[in-house]
Amino acid sequence: MSTEIYFDNAATTCPSPDVIDFYARVARDCYGNPSSRHARGTAARALLSEARTKLFAALGTKEGRLVFTAGGTEANNLALLGRAHAKERFARGGRILTTAGEHSSVALPLRALAREGFEVVEIPTKGGVIDMDALRAALSPRVVLVSVMAVNNETGAVYPTAEIGRLLHRVCPDGVLHVDATQAFMKIPFTPKTLGADMVTVSSHKIEGPKGVGALWVSDALIKNKGLSPILLGGGQEEGLRSGTENVPGACAFAEASRLAKESFEERTAQMRAVREYLVRAIAAHPVLSTAVTPNLPDAAAPHILSLTVSGFKSETVLNDLSGRGIYVSSGSACASNARNLSEALLAFGKTEAETDATIRLSFSHHNTTAEADAFLAALAEIVQTRAKARK
Ligand code: PMP
Repeated sequence: MSTEIYFDNAATTCPSPDVIDFYARVARDCYGNPSSRHARGTAARALLSEARTKLFAALGTKEGRLVFTAGGTEANNLALLGRAHAKERFARGGRILTTAGEHSSVALPLRALAREGFEVVEIPTKGGVIDMDALRAALSPRVVLVSVMAVNNETGAVYPTAEIGRLLHRVCPDGVLHVDATQAFMKIPFTPKTLGADMVTVSSHKIEGPKGVGALWVSDALIKNKGLSPILLGGGQEEGLRSGTENVPGACAFAEASRLAKESFEERTAQMRAVREYLVRAIAAHPVLSTAVTPNLPDAAAPHILSLTVSGFKSETVLNDLSGRGIYVSSGSACASNARNLSEALLAFGKTEAETDATIRLSFSHHNTTAEADAFLAALAEIVQTRAKARK
């Protein structure tokens, strides 16, 4: 076991050495601009096309388009702003549905659209369950977009996007479904079709690829209908949907990371699930932690995320104490989009403000082990006991 325990894989993963080698090779040897008409340009174009094919395969589809972006954040912004601005009439009474507790890269563009006049409706997600009655009630022919994440980044809750897609497409002629699958890609099995999605966001650094690379998958129907407009204007790359010289090494490395992850999907996710389930069982049986710690367990959960409320302890304190012992977790406030700096996802889950402030997130990769889980539990028990004693 290494001396460090990295349980923050939902924030970012340790990049695979093979993927980094691949990145370096392409960056060094194939530096041509894919738009150039000479042989170096042709070679770069071919590599980009190969990357696209690999990523399509990892997504389990041959349909639609893949727009490479500079990460999940940009892909989400493109999906939301690009959809809302695609037709002028959308601005006149267009309604957008989303869930409470989306990532800030969805929540904040939607807030901007609300300021422009779109009616943005947030569907409750208590206990990690989307209130489907509220969703049904909010669906109307005025809906132009629904944005729902496939897996919540704080709680690991898996949302029924396919059912949402079915309902949406039945009622709303202009309704398209965007799924932020940043935390779902290579963690739960899906294709754009099984998600019921018209647009899907994925990000490289969550699957052992380099940072600053992502993609938005867009359905053929949406492209044909001119239902998405670009947010970056310029040279017209990526079929006009994302101008800017393509990040060829980044795209190649992302695609290679997705190929490797797909190849060992079963083994990798089984290992993450094993560590997660081991921790849940061990906490319930632990003499100290069974009373001090409440796991926040959605009914449908991704294999790699475990949210723990350590009652009476500020998450920042626990995080820092763990960090001092070489154990890295997150406090769930890193991506908060509110002034209070509290996780919207946890508040939406039903935690109080005090509980939210006392919640840490553990997130696993296939490199993590149950031995690391044991070391984490020992450290957490010691921290809880020491701090409790110091208060007396
Ligand atoms: N959506 C979700 C659910 C995420 O967890 C993240 C990363 N924290 C993002 C979007 C943003 O992705 P990126 O870091 O690639 O911009």
